[in-house]
Amino acid sequence: MNVLVINAGSSSLKYQLINVETQRVLAKGVCECVGSPDSFLKHGLDDNEVKIMTQLEDHNAAMALVLENLTSGPNKAIDSLDEIGAVGHRIVQGGKYFDRSVLVDDDVIQKIDELAELAPLHNKPSLMGIYACRELMPDVPQVVVFDTSFFQSLQPYVYTYPIPLELSQKYSIRKYGAHGTSHRYIAERAAVVLDEPLDDLKLITCHLGNGCSVSAIDHGIAIDTSMGLTPLDGLMMGTRCGSIDPSIVTFLMEHEGLSPEEMNTLLNKKSGLLGISGISNDLRSVRDASEAGDERAMLAYEMYSYSVKKYIGQYMAVMGGVDAIVLTAGVGENCAKMRRMIFSGLQPLGIVLDEERNREVGFEREISTDDSDVCIIIIPTNEEYMIARDTYEIIQEGIY
Ligand code: ADP
Repeated sequence: MNVLVINAGSSSLKYQLINVETQRVLAKGVCECVGSPDSFLKHGLDDNEVKIMTQLEDHNAAMALVLENLTSGPNKAIDSLDEIGAVGHRIVQGGKYFDRSVLVDDDVIQKIDELAELAPLHNKPSLMGIYACRELMPDVPQVVVFDTSFFQSLQPYVYTYPIPLELSQKYSIRKYGAHGTSHRYIAERAAVVLDEPLDDLKLITCHLGNGCSVSAIDHGIAIDTSMGLTPLDGLMMGTRCGSIDPSIVTFLMEHEGLSPEEMNTLLNKKSGLLGISGISNDLRSVRDASEAGDERAMLAYEMYSYSVKKYIGQYMAVMGGVDAIVLTAGVGENCAKMRRMIFSGLQPLGIVLDEERNREVGFEREISTDDSDVCIIIIPTNEEYMIARDTYEIIQEGIY
């Protein structure tokens, strides 16, 4: 079955057409600047990518252009829309309602809409993607896959914040986590690489990209994760601050005269690697500058690795040990220097990085020494495949 995977943002629409049985990506692309005069579509695989400049008024127009390019033109992947068995949508916030992926119906749509208050930049655009598919492919079933559902297994003492409980209940404030599809995927793949059942393993999974998160997965169940009510919490990231003393927020608002929106922008877009280095949110640029002696870049680099190291310690404590630490995303997969800094000094905890393996480039691989008690594994993430697989399974179960 071919599944069309959609990831709709406020002004973008990313997609992949995946054959689930062969795991092959048949086509992929992205519409950018949707709703502005500069909008365009990039469509095609690797070297064959084409860029089509065209005005896309809204997500409906973007979706129509995507479907047109999937079925016609030089980079067409299928002959007709009949070859799309289902659509799988990535949804950022599933709140307390969704602990798994589900088939889209009116009730699901209403709940995603209701949850938009918790993820205003994400859930509304996702709905636009769902509406567009409903209109253009009314007979094709749609499934939604939530970034948060993997973390619905967290216990109340883990997900509750120590603020007045009435307020948490009134506003549904709690830890929801994010990146769940990625953590779920790399945990499953790590079990395959280790050749052990996921149910027998204690794993710490680290998604280190522009957004960064760490999870503790105990015998296949997520028991803690670093992101919180929103993806701002936890690790220091490209532009997000991660965990900071909450009184900094009120202090800066008062002293800098910032509105809630301005404060939100500062914490989400101007902090992290960018805010500390003053150079970039891109770790490569920060690394280059730190190697050239830039002190702020050096500080940013050290803070980033320290923040990951601290979470590894925390999650070893909460699980009473760990069998494997799994790394993924741009930094986790590619940056040997950052990995070296994260794992330096952890030998007394039984975590020993193999310097040579760490420098090698490759697909899924172990980079710890043979005698390290804890395996360190790199798994390139594949959230799109996971969304396609969930979609396929729900359709196969014939739940709809
Ligand atoms: P996103 O969260 O946006 O999907 P990615 O997973 O693509 O992000 O990760 C982006 C981050 O990965 C950037 O900070 C980038 O600098 C970093 N990165 C990508 N390739 C490398 C590399 N070869 N060495 C160091 N960092 C890298």
